[in-house]
Amino acid sequence: MVLAELGGRITCAIRKMNNVTIIDEKSLNECLNEITRALLQSDVSFPLVKNMQTNIKNIVNLQDLAVGHNKRKIIEQAIFSELCKMLDPGKPVFNPKKTKPSVVMFVGLQGSGKTTTCTKYAYHHQKKGFKPALVCADTFRAGAFDQLKQNATKAKIPFYGSYTESDPVKIAVEGVDRFKKENCDLIIVDTSGRHKQEASLFEEMRQVAEATKPDLVIFVMDSSIGQAAFDQAQAFKQSVSVGAVIITKMDGHAKGGGALSAVAATKSPIIFIGTGEHMDEFEVFEAKPFVSRLLGMGDLSGLVDKLQAVVPKEQQTTLVENLSQGNFTLRIMYDQFQSLMNFPLKELYSMLPGISAELMPKGHEEESRAKMKRYMTIMDSMTNEELDSSNPKVFSETRMMRIARGSGRIVSEVMEMLNEYKKLATTFGKGKGQNMSKILPPQLL
Ligand code: GDP
Repeated sequence: MVLAELGGRITCAIRKMNNVTIIDEKSLNECLNEITRALLQSDVSFPLVKNMQTNIKNIVNLQDLAVGHNKRKIIEQAIFSELCKMLDPGKPVFNPKKTKPSVVMFVGLQGSGKTTTCTKYAYHHQKKGFKPALVCADTFRAGAFDQLKQNATKAKIPFYGSYTESDPVKIAVEGVDRFKKENCDLIIVDTSGRHKQEASLFEEMRQVAEATKPDLVIFVMDSSIGQAAFDQAQAFKQSVSVGAVIITKMDGHAKGGGALSAVAATKSPIIFIGTGEHMDEFEVFEAKPFVSRLLGMGDLSGLVDKLQAVVPKEQQTTLVENLSQGNFTLRIMYDQFQSLMNFPLKELYSMLPGISAELMPKGHEEESRAKMKRYMTIMDSMTNEELDSSNPKVFSETRMMRIARGSGRIVSEVMEMLNEYKKLATTFGKGKGQNMSKILPPQLL
């Protein structure tokens, strides 16, 4: 996803500014200009970028900042919060409940991935215990009903549609009524998409919305739509009351900046992203952790979630407890290395503060894994007391020599491993909010 490149460029601009001795109007402008260029090249619309620049300048009023204020931190925070605002206007989104049937209507241009996304959305909620159902009110595209039927059958989700009825409003109403009677708690209505904005499409959408009274209208947008995103999204918003956005094809090579424009145009947050053609290639989207990762500020809660996904169940509680208490022993490090052997390391690093995913040099995953294996061999020659101690001072010279001999390595390698451990222990020990680029083991990158 090219949005990650955008993150890399913004991080670079901030880092460049952090390297100058005095933060003044000139260095702030240079930083903001670099960010502006990066955003525009990623297809974020010009008015939106201009607005962001003005907002940051208003927040960071250099003249008014008293001496002693940490200007760098204030600027970084302003950039962070403006990017979050771009992705989440702060409007609450309707959440389907199991206690009462909800109707969710999907709108978007043809080819945006609407039909695929309807099933992904239904499948996601089915896994959470909902009883979803799909209604195909797309009578315009030949084959739309077959596609929905196929997807729904695969996911074992009930569906409704017609090969002969040409009135989408009639189908939508019949489908919604039927599934309400069948006690489905999440009824998803797929509507027609056309190639471009057409008055008849919008009129049809309005009528379907009026007849089915959806609790939520979701606008589906292909991430590759580029600069046209703002106008497209706005046109939809003006016809129906869009409450949320789903961006599809985030796995492709699209620049992705259009996503930010769609949020601004609909004043609605992105709730999910599509990351592939398959049913489970669908991720919940949250602006803050996303921007955090984009800018290399880390996402410690996401990291704990990911670790929970790869760490064996019996180790999870202990791990989370230990990490939250900042208690990071060599044994925990060993267990984590073991779990991480098959884990995409780039993803992991993007969640650690101070590391942008883009900064992990390509082809270094193998090197990192080899290093973890080497460290594990060294730890295999340690006693229980050594493994369970979080105090590196227990490692006297004689102990290090014994460990080196036992693992077939040399003493300097044992020392190197212990240094890495110390750095990781500091990372986990001091926890949130810090720029840890200087203390994370560079050899592991
Ligand atoms: P609709 O016309 O808006 O209903 O679009 P479809 O659901 O038919 O999707 C159009 C094409 O995009 C299909 O080939 C889908 O498999 C594909 N597609 C949908 N979502 C994604 C996604 O997140 N990633 C990728 N790579 N392809 C997707």
